[in-house]
Amino acid sequence: MTRSERQELIDKGLMLPLMEEFYTIQGEGYHKGTAAYFIRIGGCDVGCHWCDVKESWLAELNPPTETEKIVANAAKYSKTIVVTGGEPLTWDMSLLTKQLKDQNLKVHIETSGAYPLSGTWDWICLSPKKNKLPTPTVYDNAHELKVIIHNKHDFIFAEEQAELVNNNAILFLQPEWSKKEEMTPLIVDYVMNNPKWRVSLQTHKYLNIP
Ligand code: SF4
Repeated sequence: MTRSERQELIDKGLMLPLMEEFYTIQGEGYHKGTAAYFIRIGGCDVGCHWCDVKESWLAELNPPTETEKIVANAAKYSKTIVVTGGEPLTWDMSLLTKQLKDQNLKVHIETSGAYPLSGTWDWICLSPKKNKLPTPTVYDNAHELKVIIHNKHDFIFAEEQAELVNNNAILFLQPEWSKKEEMTPLIVDYVMNNPKWRVSLQTHKYLNIP
């Protein structure tokens, strides 16, 4: 298959650059503590300096994989599938989510919202990034808003994002891992003073699991 033929299949959602997939515990946000199968799709141009999956940024480093195969494998492990990245909305998620839902699986996404929403989701976790702000369709449909707190200015950013997301979204503040000692006490105080927010921690990192 030539490069352009492969790109055409990716553009149609028939193939996706698959970085890794694994069965684990969702560590963060609303569904933390629950088992789920993670599909990590390569490709992201948002460029967060503290990103902990920088190896996902270049799509071409991740093998184009048939969507059918990804779905068949995922269905063996869990009734809940979390699609993450990278930035999964770089790609058209319609076919992947249709095929997962045809298997009666619950389908969740972790996204920065930097690209318009595609696909059909049971749960949308929006984690907006200053470098490339979310598109309106993701603000309108997100079930949770999870803002990463790397410095004090991020509290202001979090409030700006809370104004933009739909009213039903559940609001979380999560310390960026390398700044957790410094930021977690500030988040605790902030949530007590502003109880519309909840604390989210990267519990999978404390548990030392993927
Ligand atoms: S959006 Fe996510 S994957 Fe992309 S650079 Fe930021 S943290 Fe990394």
